[in-house]
Amino acid sequence: MANHLFDRLTAGAPAPGTPFIQAGPGPGVSYGELKPLSGRIANVLAGIGVKPGDRVAVQVEKSVDALLLYLACVRVGAVILPLNTGYTAAEVDYFVGDAEPALLVVDPAKAAALAPVAAAHHARLETLGPSGEGSLPRLAAHADPEFRTVSRGPADLAAILYTSGTTGRSKGAMLSHDNLASNAEMLVDYWRFTSKDVLIHALPIFHTHGLFVATNVILCAGASMFFLPRFDPAEVIALMAKATCLMGVPTFYTRLLAQPGLTREASASMRLFISGSAPLLAETHRDFEARTGHAILERYGMTETNMNTSNPYDGDRVPGTVGFPLPGVSLRVVEPETGAPVEAGAIGMIEVKGPNVFQGYWRMPEKTKAEFRADGYFITGDLGRIDARGYVHIVGRGKDLVISGGFNVYPKEVEGEIDALPGVVESAVIGVPHPDFGEGVTAVVVRKPGATLDEAGVLAALAERLAKFKQPKAVLFVDDLPRNTMGKVQKNLLRETYKGIYAAG
Ligand code: AMP
Repeated sequence: MANHLFDRLTAGAPAPGTPFIQAGPGPGVSYGELKPLSGRIANVLAGIGVKPGDRVAVQVEKSVDALLLYLACVRVGAVILPLNTGYTAAEVDYFVGDAEPALLVVDPAKAAALAPVAAAHHARLETLGPSGEGSLPRLAAHADPEFRTVSRGPADLAAILYTSGTTGRSKGAMLSHDNLASNAEMLVDYWRFTSKDVLIHALPIFHTHGLFVATNVILCAGASMFFLPRFDPAEVIALMAKATCLMGVPTFYTRLLAQPGLTREASASMRLFISGSAPLLAETHRDFEARTGHAILERYGMTETNMNTSNPYDGDRVPGTVGFPLPGVSLRVVEPETGAPVEAGAIGMIEVKGPNVFQGYWRMPEKTKAEFRADGYFITGDLGRIDARGYVHIVGRGKDLVISGGFNVYPKEVEGEIDALPGVVESAVIGVPHPDFGEGVTAVVVRKPGATLDEAGVLAALAERLAKFKQPKAVLFVDDLPRNTMGKVQKNLLRETYKGIYAAG
């Protein structure tokens, strides 16, 4: 019987003895073992009553077993709902209440805290630990490795991923079998993955980047990966001699650059470094190329849409851009309010359409309707522009736009100017309530160690470079910008911290 996603993920499977997970830092798994191992877990799921269409919520540490659980869910026709390991019991309670999974799988250390959550929402609770411990692997050890994969079509749901929710309530993005399969197959071609590739996988697997982009691409290509529990820059550099590519968030690259071991020689066998999930500073791109000879390939995607754009494999990978719309993806830039096209090169709302775009938000028909245009384009919430060569530039999230004295200020433009100043590591520009201007442009800056740059210095430098209305009303210095696990700067936290600085009186 056909299972759209599983069949396509396994269509390119190489000879059974070929490694899928390279033994090394962790245990290895061969392609031949994938079916029996996921089959055992699929039998456990089916045995405890998980039916096609049921949700399976998973909050576990990264492990090979967790990956096999994902494949088992696909095979039983269940909808996997991976949850950030950092979520508290109260947060998990919201997701479980919202998604009503038949089964909740958690780390053994969290079982006691989450048992009441499972009970309250009538979900069965099983445990899975990072080293093969827990009730699920125990059951799987005695289960039959043969499993008749359940039939599922392209439009059936494979996953619900809750958006990172840096503002407002987290929404469950419903992803179909074909959303995932079509994006993975296209990326294999676009990024030239083959069975010879060895990926360094150091991303979490509760997010689209580590779970779908990385894992699905490797499966589709019949390639293999080093599957690391977490990102450790020294370990990643040591593995480069045995690998061919790395998929990372921008913080991976800044942290790699801080290692003296990152050299041309250390990365000589690598063919591709990919970055996404948050903006890569143009400076990081340039520094990385100077140190290693590799131009990082930056791409742009989101939970709801999988991957939308990518810099080219051959051709210029332009720092500060996210490249071209991927094959099959239609992308346009429009006036946020009206949806009318903007003039060539102008900033507007990025909208996308294609087989990559999700099926809507779980049990939020109104929210779903509000985020699609009548002609099927999804309103991403990202502001951007397309330059004369067709490269897409992301200017920031729509909600991060600052409106000061009636003028639109795009934080990225101001951040770019500040980041270019000597002594600056990085910056975040936010709008906070201001008695005269509505919002005051406010810069939060991280200085290099020993740098003496102060507020007056920043303002003096910007005075020559930016129109008055774009210049910050205040410049504040911090040791680090707050970031979530995917490396995104949490501007909502900064806005909260500094909301009172211009208070009248
Ligand atoms: P998530 O759903 O957690 O993957 O977050 C998606 C959001 O991350 C997008 O809507 C963008 O705002 C941002 N993002 C992803 N990739 C990039 C990139 N290469 N440059 C800038 N922003 C990005």
